[in-house]
Amino acid sequence: MIGDLLKKPYIPYGRQSISEADINAVVEVLRSDWLTQGPAIERFEQAVSRYCGVKYAVAVSSGTAALHIACMVAGLSQDDVLLTSPNTFVASANCAFYCGARPDFVDIDPVYYNIDADKLAVKLSAMAEQGRLPKIVLPVHFAGQSCQMEKIHALSREYNFTVIEDACHALGATYKGFRVGSCRFSDMTVFSFHPVKIITTGEGGIILTNNEEYYERLLRLRTHGITRDERFMEGTSEGPWYYQQTELGFNYRMTDLQAALGLSQLDQMDAFITRRRQLAKQYNEALQNLPLILPQEHSDAKSAFHLYVIRLKSDKVKKTRAEGFRMLKEKGIGVNVHYIPVHTQPYYRKLGFSQGDFKEAERYYSEALTLPLYPAMTDENQDYVVSSLREVLK
Ligand SMILES: *Cc1c(COP(=O)(O)O)cnc(C)c1O
Repeated sequence: MIGDLLKKPYIPYGRQSISEADINAVVEVLRSDWLTQGPAIERFEQAVSRYCGVKYAVAVSSGTAALHIACMVAGLSQDDVLLTSPNTFVASANCAFYCGARPDFVDIDPVYYNIDADKLAVKLSAMAEQGRLPKIVLPVHFAGQSCQMEKIHALSREYNFTVIEDACHALGATYKGFRVGSCRFSDMTVFSFHPVKIITTGEGGIILTNNEEYYERLLRLRTHGITRDERFMEGTSEGPWYYQQTELGFNYRMTDLQAALGLSQLDQMDAFITRRRQLAKQYNEALQNLPLILPQEHSDAKSAFHLYVIRLKSDKVKKTRAEGFRMLKEKGIGVNVHYIPVHTQPYYRKLGFSQGDFKEAERYYSEALTLPLYPAMTDENQDYVVSSLREVLK
């Protein structure tokens, strides 16, 4: 019995891949003169911006910090509205509160589970009538697949809002042939480097933009609102020691240890994405005859497959999602659910949102199950997940 338990593998839904080169890169920083905000930060920023095809990058301490200061430079303030998807991690909406603003949501489309650009158009037209247009629209590229950015970008011209892409799932994805992060159809793009994401720095995040003013201000907000650049000072510099705090910022710095890890991880990007996409394809093939809805890829978008989410066809499966979840966990399979619709969280309910507000996201949530997917997952791991799922669905 106990022997069986010990032998049982545990396959998490996601995990980092750390190479010897990654470890050596971090150790090298430990032996250097800089632990934080040294030369690795700029090298990492340049490498990410080159990879994504964008002009500027500002590395910070988390994806959440990145969302916060991106909202600040977009001018989000008291009583403004930020629109995002309910099918996301709470951080995508919480960043509005950090600026004294209010988040609101637009329901998802039923096929790709991203913010529905047509519903967004309807909402914007209603908001325009009330004279209450959003300052920011923050599309989230769910599971690694880009939203319909061309439509959202066109709406931003019509209704004059800033577009910030929450691409925490989507490093390595493309949209209409452009890398996500190029900001071809947005003002800023944010990535997270949390260990379950596409590459990791332990904790970490980055903001990408082609806007020089945004870039300069993001640099200051990352470090207390302090500048050493005379161009941004009131009056003149008093000497080489001199700095000024010109507004209220934060300590959102990434360390050099983290940046060195990120740089080394970037070297493996192509291998990571190739393996993620290969595993997704193998899942698609192995699961096609089961009573499941499998992930669909839009012809304009190539997903990074941060997540592989299936939906149980509730009319054809005898077990509930909760039963399926529990049975797979018992088999050592780290299934998960992405996401509990943000508007149904107690914090959001207290502010007036309720169950029923965004029905597509709620329906999706009731059937969704995230299967394990990460670059180091072996074909044997995957076969075990597939055969276990078959048993559960019997
Ligand atoms: C992970 C994640 C975040 C937050 O990133 P952190 O680095 O954990 O702060 C925000 N939005 C989405 C969609 C995420 O998946």
